[in-house]
Amino acid sequence: MADVASGGKSGKVVIRNIGLLLSGDLDQPILEADTVVVVDGIITAVGREKDCDTAEPATLIDARGGCLAPGLIDSHVHPVFGDWTPRQGQIGWIDSSMHGGVTTMISAGEVHLPGRPKDIVGLKALAITAQRAFDNFRPGGVKVLAGAPIIERGMVESDFAELAAAGVTLLGEVGLGSVKAGYEAKEMVAWARKHGIQSTIHTGGPSIPGSGLIDKDVVLEADADVIGHINGGHTSLSEAHVCELCEKSSRAIEIVHNGNERVAIAAAQAALQLKCPHRVILGTDSPAGSGVQPLGLLRLIALLSSLGRIPAELVFCFATGNTARLRKLNCGLVEVGRDADFVFMDRAQHSAGRTLLESVELGDIPGVGMVMIDGLVRCGRSRNTPPAHEIPQVMNDH
Ligand SMILES: [Zn+2]
Repeated sequence: MADVASGGKSGKVVIRNIGLLLSGDLDQPILEADTVVVVDGIITAVGREKDCDTAEPATLIDARGGCLAPGLIDSHVHPVFGDWTPRQGQIGWIDSSMHGGVTTMISAGEVHLPGRPKDIVGLKALAITAQRAFDNFRPGGVKVLAGAPIIERGMVESDFAELAAAGVTLLGEVGLGSVKAGYEAKEMVAWARKHGIQSTIHTGGPSIPGSGLIDKDVVLEADADVIGHINGGHTSLSEAHVCELCEKSSRAIEIVHNGNERVAIAAAQAALQLKCPHRVILGTDSPAGSGVQPLGLLRLIALLSSLGRIPAELVFCFATGNTARLRKLNCGLVEVGRDADFVFMDRAQHSAGRTLLESVELGDIPGVGMVMIDGLVRCGRSRNTPPAHEIPQVMNDH
């Protein structure tokens, strides 16, 4: 199961007896529905069981009254090749994150590659190679959108056109290369945008020796699509400057696990106060100096919900539907026509919370009972989370 390629169709999948259906949509985070039907990896019905065509499924799953939510999207990872990270010398970290409910990851740059090329032809070649490699190979079935070049001085518009034509859709964190001044970054970010490439900027102090400070004025001037790790990676700008970024920029507010926790809460609360919660997206920024956290997104959700006092059903939207919309992905929302990427959860055994949402609001992380990607079951009871109170059961399997 660790190296499922992109092929393989789910056929018809019926998921019944869902006790809590989280949609991923901030405007209606909880759906009045107990059944989801999937055909060949795409959601075809969401509703009450009696209203759905549940006949003759290839796979029938009893959710046993637990929660179904869109699979989590990690907006900020640093993959290299396959399921290996040289940052902490680990293998299997992506599959392990799938056991933490993650079904999609977005690269913020393959920066940890030993000997990473920094010349222009080399950095373009790496980006195209990474995009192809992860498109062809999905550890644990996780969709890894990679091939995110780190821009360097000397690049011209035709470089961005060439990258886009080759299938590159992302820029790695602006500021990790030699382009650190606002006016330089602004020009390249605009070229990228013109050619359909989405950009993320590093925000805050240096991450590791060799990287540098990007302050709020550079972030505002560069105007990248995503204010990457607005709460620092790990060293944050001041809380006042972070709130100023939330107010003065209209771009995505990305909060990460491997950042400053206090400022993470401040940024999320600022977005709510400014009435722009749709801009908030979550990531881990792993692998990093802090390691790899397979439960990083669940931990961040519990942090924002418990200490940040934000209803858990809203925080789940930050890690699913918000990210899908801002990054134009077909996953992240439970609605007809979307990819059938789901995480099945329940309150962890012996949590003080009486329900899943209450347990998260009390600071506990949920138990994952199953993960499905493109309608295919990728794991049953998670090997990493605390055990869920109830876990779904596959009632038939052909
Ligand atoms: Zn960074």
